This record gives sequence, C-alpha cells and structure tokens, in this order.
Amino acid sequence: MAAKGTSKVEEESESAVQTARRQLERAAAQVDVDPGTIERLSHPDKVHQVSIPLRRDDGSLEVFTGYRAQHDSVRGPFKGGLRYHPDVSAEECIGLSMWMTWKCAVMDIPFGGGKGGIVVDPKTLSEDEKERLTRRFAEELRDMIGPLHDIPAPDMGTDPQTMAWFMDAYSMQEGETTPGVVTGKPPVIGGSHGREESPGRSVGIIAREAIDYYDWNPEETTVAVQGFGSVGANAARYLDDLGAKVVAVSDVEGAIYDPDGLDTKDVEGHDEKPGMVSGYDAPKTLGNAELLELDVDILIPAAVGNVLTTDNANQIQAEMIVEGANGPTTSAADAIFEERGIPVIPDILANAGGVTVSYFEWLQDINRRAWSLERVNDELETEMLKAWNAVRAEVDERNVTWRDAAYIVALSRVAKAHEARGLWP
Ligand code: GLU
Repeated sequence: MAAKGTSKVEEESESAVQTARRQLERAAAQVDVDPGTIERLSHPDKVHQVSIPLRRDDGSLEVFTGYRAQHDSVRGPFKGGLRYHPDVSAEECIGLSMWMTWKCAVMDIPFGGGKGGIVVDPKTLSEDEKERLTRRFAEELRDMIGPLHDIPAPDMGTDPQTMAWFMDAYSMQEGETTPGVVTGKPPVIGGSHGREESPGRSVGIIAREAIDYYDWNPEETTVAVQGFGSVGANAARYLDDLGAKVVAVSDVEGAIYDPDGLDTKDVEGHDEKPGMVSGYDAPKTLGNAELLELDVDILIPAAVGNVLTTDNANQIQAEMIVEGANGPTTSAADAIFEERGIPVIPDILANAGGVTVSYFEWLQDINRRAWSLERVNDELETEMLKAWNAVRAEVDERNVTWRDAAYIVALSRVAKAHEARGLWP
C-alpha cells in the first residue's frame, strides 16, 4: 500500500502540498479575500526538521528524520497528528498541516493547522524501539509544542500508546503532568472517551447526512470501504448499524466482498488484529484496486492518500465518494468526478470528528474533568451537523462541489480572523 501511494504521487507528480495549494486557489477564486492573505495561507508558518537518534535493540544506533509543519495559528494553537510512515516528508507534512487548518475552521474549533511525523516504517520497530523513538521525538519537538502552542495527536502509524509516551516524555521534562500537550491519549491519563472511534464515526455521520440529502434509502445503500483501520472500521460499522449494506472492506493485503453485506462487527479491524481482513472467510476476495472500482453507492477511501487519480477516476462506479483518509483524491481526479457528477464529500469535513473530539479532550484536560462517552458522542453529533449545514448551505447557494463549499466556509473564517488581527509589526 505504501509503495502504491508513492507511485501514484509520482505518476501524477502531485504531492499533498500541491493538492492543498490547488484546492486553496480554487476556493480563493470564489471568495472575496485579500490576495495577500491567500499568499500567506499558501505557505506554512514554520517547518521544523529534527534528527532522532535511536538505540536499536541490537545495540546499533540509527538516526531517523522527523518533521513538524505548522501552517497557521490565527484561530488558535497549531493542531494535527504525528505520522510514522516511510513516505513522510516535509512537503507531505506541509500539505497535511494546511488541511488541518481548514478542517479546524470548517468545524469552527479554535485551533490552527499542524502535522508532523517520522520517516519510518513502524512495523520494523519493536515496541521498546517505538517507545524510545517517540520519547526522543517528543524531546526534540519540546520547544515547538505545548498545550497552548501546538498540540499533536495520532495519525497513520501512531496510536493512543504513542501519545501516552509522548505526553510522559514532555511532562517529565516540564516537571509537571501536562495532559493537554497531546490528544488521542488513553482515557486513563486524560484521553477522551470516544476519541479513537471519532474520525470513523464522523465519516458515518456525514455519509448518513449525504444519504438523506440525496434522498436515498439507507437500507438500499451499498458501501465499499478501502482501509479497515480505525477510520474505515468505525465508519463501516456506523453505516452497518444504520442499515446500509457494507459489501466490501480491505486492508493492505486485499479486500473481502459479500454482495449481501458483510457483518462488519465480525471482521476484526486492522488495528485490532493485522491481517485479519484479507484472512476473513468471505464469499469473494478482491484486490484493493478492484474494491475502488466496485459498483456501489458510496465509496469510502479510508487508507492512504492519492488513491483516486487520473489512472482510475474514469473507472470509479460509485455514486458518491466520502473521504475517510486525508487527501485520497488528486485535484485532477477531483475534476473528473466533478465532470462525471459524482459528489466527493471532502476529508476536511468527513473525518473532522477526530480533531473535534481532540478539542473536547483538550477542554477536559485543561479543566481536569472527564466527560462521559454519551456526552462526547452527543456533542460530536451536534458539531458535525453544524458543520454539515454550513457546507450544505454553500453547495445549495453557489452550486459548487462539496470540497469547494467546505473550503469556502473554512477560508472565509480563517481570512476574517487574519483581517481582524492584522499583520504584525
Ligand atoms: N490525525 C487526525 C486528522 O488528520 C487528527 C488530528 C488531531 O486530532 O489533532 O484529522
């Protein structure tokens, strides 16, 4: 899967930052914003690069490269995940940090955009090595982050345990327990209930609203989900509970297909047990590329970026795409979908439940008071509906794509904040 993602980027030579800039240009043409502000928003505020020495279990020493891109903080502290993946690069982090700025603004939460990571395949590390690497990364980033400055979270290749080590390393050096420095922690140390499920849950909520918007019957809606990690599995299960038929899901090795609908709770997620998806006893198995081209109502790409490209955009048979992953669609593929009349509900809205519950977690940490799972899910539902309604209003009013509409909402909010604060000095 990683290699596939890489080759797609090369074929279309569009990096995450290029996609993000093209999307911003499109939105900028539709809103009345000072071109100087757009110029500012085309560049990250800062990009940090660090070297992280790691003592391997065999006694040898290896040096890894880590990044933290900080795009914009006009609305609040930088916010966004830390990714452990061989394809991590400064460019990728910048693009992803731009998307975080828009995601937080679409949700109207008081954060800006950040993203970071380490160039490493976490599968090649032992648990002890992962812990040492994470602790040292936290130390290298210590001056650039903080609960009021920049707040990391999990992303591809990282999880609540990674955040626990990160928070511990930061807290030990600061001399005080500082849960608000990262979100997505285990609840026992200040993590929020429902945080792990929240990006997938929000994909489900937004898909539910889109089903309603297009007057479909959930029970007659078929769904294919690429990627059965936290986002894909939780989205699939949410839609399964709603009565939709999830006919195909996949992991890195391949996809399983059942035209009558899979029992998504019986299929163990990639995070729960790697390799269990493709090993599941289903009527049919497919390749990952075939899953994307299935004749379904909703396609949810929830694995890596750049999977919907000019190579396959004309072969996609889904009636609608709801983006679970960050940046699964290149701008050229987006244009093809627009031309073909296939709505694409963008990542910055659909998977924004993750950062929204991160915001709830940060509030809980600052107040030292935990919310119940019920409260988290109720407030998530409210916030997702607010954002959905704001974006839907732009779609209806301006007759633009869902991505353009989400960008218009986000960009207007960010630009207004820049206007109000002005330029220093
Ligand atoms: N990595 C997640 C995302 O891309 C969550 C970010 C966060 O919670 O800060 O939205």
